[in-house]
Amino acid sequence: MALSPPAPSANTLISRVFVVDDSSVQCEHAASLCREVFVGASVSMAFDGKQALDLLDDSAVDLMLIDLEMPVMDGIELIGEIARRKLSRSILIMSAKDPKLISSVGMMAEAGGLRVLGCYQKPITANILHQASTQFNSHSTRTSSGLTNEIIITADDLDQGIQNHHFNLHYQPKLTTKGAFLKGVEALARWNHPKLGPISPLTFIDAAENSGRIAALSLHLFDIALRQKAYWNQHGMTFSLAFNLSPSLLLEDELINRIEAAMAQYDIKPKELIFEVTENVMLGNVAKSLQTLTRLRLKGFGIALDDYGTGFANAEQLVRLPATELKLDRSLIHGIAKKPQLEKLISSTVTLAADLNLITVAEGVEDIEDFYLLKRFNIDQVQGYHFCRPLMAEHLQQWIKSDLAKIRASLMNVD
Ligand code: C2E
Ligand code: CA
Ligand code: CA
Repeated sequence: MALSPPAPSANTLISRVFVVDDSSVQCEHAASLCREVFVGASVSMAFDGKQALDLLDDSAVDLMLIDLEMPVMDGIELIGEIARRKLSRSILIMSAKDPKLISSVGMMAEAGGLRVLGCYQKPITANILHQASTQFNSHSTRTSSGLTNEIIITADDLDQGIQNHHFNLHYQPKLTTKGAFLKGVEALARWNHPKLGPISPLTFIDAAENSGRIAALSLHLFDIALRQKAYWNQHGMTFSLAFNLSPSLLLEDELINRIEAAMAQYDIKPKELIFEVTENVMLGNVAKSLQTLTRLRLKGFGIALDDYGTGFANAEQLVRLPATELKLDRSLIHGIAKKPQLEKLISSTVTLAADLNLITVAEGVEDIEDFYLLKRFNIDQVQGYHFCRPLMAEHLQQWIKSDLAKIRASLMNVD
């Protein structure tokens, strides 16, 4: 059960894993899957929270898989202690309990400063671990010593990136399920750092939020997006543009004025734009966030609730949000055709969205079988690698010219 020295494999940066579960069968099962997926990683086990704390030393492990119901010290208490003593770089919560309860524990852990790679009902699968690995990698780099390190991005780095025009946007199409028409594109931020190479937006957006630069960075990106949108409008490409807004931006008094000034400069109308926000806007200063969103909605902007299905948003919160669109998260959508247990969730979400007059968009469509299922369940639009990855503006134009018609033709026979 002791921790052996790290030996990370080529495709995962996770090199030390700790599984805590009082059921020895489940614990062994999760540990052996970890060995399979995180090739070369050292995997340790404990059967309750107290034993885990006794075995962990001061150097943090990369990932802990934690069961919630355990004797002696349960998962919730253990998570609190791990957050306080910074014993793990990330955690994955697994439990036999109700998914809503598991995801509230996840939120509690995040509020305590832990990186939560997922909250799942048991048993854990290899697929879940692969997803956790991808998420972990996107926030980490490997140092020459072979150990993993968080990338530290300072306010200065961000300012320089903005000044030197190192930030850019890629655009990913959103297609209708009926007829595969191009409805719009989502703008996704990219940063090609001169020394570190490409950095995931999850990492630098987080850094911008924590260093007080999110408004500066977002307005810079918004300017790039609007300039591009104006170009497309002038060339007869009139699809809508979706832009992600961090929850903290909604608290900025100047936000709406700045948005309107930029819109006027490029002569773009609010109905051509959709702002995407996550349900995190319902945490913190809810009144102010709702006020900003409602004002944007009144001015004619579209509002999309992003990442639906990952957290806690429920029907009551949805009703309070002045949204026009619901984006189902890719963790729900990916492989949906092979998960009949999720069909009920999709159909009830579609019904709820229809009641609230919301357009439904499924993200992360990578397989054609998933597309057919989503179409059958009357999801309105799809976005995903199967159709197109996020592309530079020029490449997107190429894709529209040469690939879109082919995609439409290949789907014709099922319309
Ligand atoms: P998001 O808003 O949920 O964006 C969708 C993410 O899913 C994008 O990741 C996109 O590249 C990825 N994606 C799309 N289709 C597929 C698929 O079929 N399979 C898989 N595996 N992934 C797919 P990306 O570009 O890395 O962005 C990650 C997140 O960073 C975004 O998630 C968003 O939360 C944030 N972000 C990106 N740009 C901005 C921005 O300008 N402002 C803010 N505040 N956040 C941004
Ligand atoms: Ca989004
Ligand atoms: Ca999303």
